This record gives sequence, structure tokens and C-alpha cells, in this order.
Amino acid sequence: MATGPGRSLRDLIGAGERSFSFEFFPPKDAAGEQQLWSAIRALEPYRPTFVSVTYGAGGTTRDKTVAITGRIARETELVPMAHLTCVGHTRSELEGILDSYVAEGVSHVMALRGDPQEGPRAEWTPTPGGLNHAVELVELAHARGFRVGVAAFPEGHPSAASLDADADVLVAKARAGAEFAVTQMFFRAEDYFGLVDRVRARGVDIPILPGIMPILNLAAIRRQGELIGTSVPDDVVARITSAGEDPAVVRAAGIRLAAELCDDLLAGGAPGLHFYTLNRSKATLEIFDALRITV
Ligand code: FAD
Repeated sequence: MATGPGRSLRDLIGAGERSFSFEFFPPKDAAGEQQLWSAIRALEPYRPTFVSVTYGAGGTTRDKTVAITGRIARETELVPMAHLTCVGHTRSELEGILDSYVAEGVSHVMALRGDPQEGPRAEWTPTPGGLNHAVELVELAHARGFRVGVAAFPEGHPSAASLDADADVLVAKARAGAEFAVTQMFFRAEDYFGLVDRVRARGVDIPILPGIMPILNLAAIRRQGELIGTSVPDDVVARITSAGEDPAVVRAAGIRLAAELCDDLLAGGAPGLHFYTLNRSKATLEIFDALRITV
């Protein structure tokens, strides 16, 4: 169900509807652009609440994120959400980028701190004249009338002092005007529900959408997980590896695991599902199929 300009995610979920959303990244070349648009068109009939487009590490895809979200706003029925990070930008540059989102008809923004150019494990160094934490970008975007989403971390952000400190950060972002949160990828439903409980215990009811990444390549997911602080549990590894060598069978095991996680999340009260599509529709459609979600 598309939100439309007057319908916020909060309204939608408050009305008891489930939210599905899809995340894309700005492609590098013309072939990637074609793949992105074929994924968008294949997923459009599922009427997602929004589709989001990431902002490249180190601010490298600024113009592309603006252009793609603008094109989604103009040429589709979808609600685009543009990501934005604080990396390498002064406050006035960030204001300029927010202005260009407005000019493109984009009213939803995912306000993030971002990671240093050297990667997620490198030490954060603020940009002179810039912002230091995502909460400041939430305030900036919210004050300009954007509908704001933020990042959340079921296993805690890797540099957070504790899970409680991590929940305090999400609560501060909600109080600064964030309307909803989307989680980092994770593979244990209990990690997600633990985060929700910590946030609710602080008196904050912000909807938290679980971010779903099916394991289609175990080695790649483990590498990425180490960087971003997501663990791949032993039972998950065992199920994928016991599928053997045949890539089609391994893939099917990854899809089945993701569908089971989605089932557990929805059954436990998650307000919806946010899919990391990697600019392809196939895996998401396979998970929808397993969940019997149809257009
Ligand atoms: P913050 O909320 O600022 O948190 C960063 C760290 O600072 C945390 O350890 C937090 O505990 C700590 N902290 C926050 N506020 C305070 C405070 N007031 N005092 C002390 N400590 C504090 N990266 C990109 O480059 N582009 C993207 O498009 C992108 N999209 C993402 C989408 C999702 C759904 C998620 C989950 C992550 C995404 N990321 C993206 C990665 C993200 O930028 C990194 O995970 C980054 O390290 C943290 O961003 P944040 O917005 O959570 O930052």
C-alpha cells in the first residue's frame, strides 16, 4: 500500500496494515541502471510503503541518489526515500542536498551518520562544520518538513558501549522527529524483538522495520557481517553448508531461512519487512512466494 503524500508510515501501521519496502543502491553504469529499473518495475506491483535508495559510502553517490529518487517520484507510483549521510559534508552542504531532494519531489529521507571512507570499523572523524551524529541530521531534516527514517541495530551498533546505550541512541532519534526505523541485517528474530523491547521500555513506540537480507552467498554475508557487527549464528551456517555444493540448492536454503525469519518476525508483531534487494527482484519475490504474499 503506497503511503501517498498525506499518509505516513506511522498512520499506515497504526491502521493495522503491514509495511513492505525495498532498498536499492545507485548503480555504477548503464547496465546496472537497467538492472535497477527492471527490479523496481518487478517489485512495484507489490505496492510497497516506500522504496529507498542508499547514499554511497563517503558521500560518493550524492548526485545519483538525488537523480534516482527524483525519477522514482516522477515516473512511478512509488514513494521514494532518499538516504543521506553526514560523511564529508558541512551542515550547509547537507541543507543543499535536502533542498535538491525537495526539488525532485522527494519528501522521505533516511537520516544516517554514515561510516568513515576507510570502512565501518574505522574511527569516526567529524567533518569541520558538519554533523557528528545521525540525530543532528534527523533534527535538520525534520525541521525542513521531511518524513524521517533512521537506522537501528538489533545486535547493537558495533561502536555502541552497550545494547542499552544503543537503544538510547534510537530513542533520541525518535524524540528528534524520526517517524520510523529500519534495522541492519540480522539472522535471529530474538535480536530484533530484544531491540523492540528495549525501545518500548523507554516509552517510545517508533515502528521498527526489520531489514531482511537472504543469505545467497555465505562467505560474502559473513565478511559483511564482521564489518557491520551482524553475527551469522552457527545453526544458520549449518543449514546453509549442509545444503551441499550445488549453488541452486544453497540458494534455496538461504531463501527458506529468510522466509522462516520473516514468518517469525511477522508472527511476533513486526510491523512489516524491509528487503535489501541488491537491485535484484528475484530473491525478494521468492521470499514473497514462500510467505504466500501476492500482488
Ligand atoms: P548514529 O545514530 O550517529 O550512531 C553512530 C554511532 O554513534 C553509534 O555507535 C551510536 O551508538 C553512537 N552515538 C550516536 N549518537 C550518540 C551520542 N549523542 N553520543 C554518543 N554516541 C552516540 N551507510 C551509508 O553510507 N549509506 C547508506 O545509505 C546507509 N544506509 C543504511 C541503512 C540502514 C537501514 C542501516 C541500518 C545502515 C545504513 N548505513 C548506510 C550504515 C550506517 O551509516 C552506519 O551503520 C553508521 O555507522 C551508523 O549510522 P547511524 O545513522 O546509526 O549513526
